[in-house]
Amino acid sequence: MDQQTNDGHALQRLLDELGRLPGIGPKSAQRIAYYLLESDAETARRLAHAILDLKEQVHFCPICFNYATRDTCDICSDPSRDKTTICVVSEPRDVSAIERTGSYHGLYHVLGGVISPMDKIGPEQLHVRELLSRLASGEVQEVILATNPDVEGETTATYLSRTIRPLGVRVSRLASGLPVGGDLEYADEVTLGRAIEARREV
Ligand SMILES: [Zn+2]
Repeated sequence: MDQQTNDGHALQRLLDELGRLPGIGPKSAQRIAYYLLESDAETARRLAHAILDLKEQVHFCPICFNYATRDTCDICSDPSRDKTTICVVSEPRDVSAIERTGSYHGLYHVLGGVISPMDKIGPEQLHVRELLSRLASGEVQEVILATNPDVEGETTATYLSRTIRPLGVRVSRLASGLPVGGDLEYADEVTLGRAIEARREV
């Protein structure tokens, strides 16, 4: 263990690490660090282990690329889900947003991003190939494109619609009502739930 871990630098290191987390400014980082300093060792150990376990135990589901702690994710391995519908989203957090609405009971496919020529991200950089091979089984009858209603999300939806329609699978897009340029993750549950129910074929 180097010298840095033994003195006041430990506090600074924690402040630096916390400060890198999304949504945590310097004040919040300080509040958390002092809370941990004042807590017993067990509290700090539980937090540290929860973070380590997260990195060791959570991986991508090999079918839908959502996060999973078992071989396949809870949704892919749930026999009660409707296997004729796949909802395509860009990130795992979008799965959580749609699940919270309670309006959808099919499967998902997480692309791992969106098409963005500026960032040199094309279909090859996303899990598009895996989506197409899931459709090849013939069991899926509808694909719902639930990428964000912003430029990249629309570009991605248009590309997927053109690629999937010739396969004879119905393709739909979330209904309008979602704020344009908005983020699926922040849409309220009622609006997002309605957008799924009122999806339109594209
Ligand atoms: Zn899965």
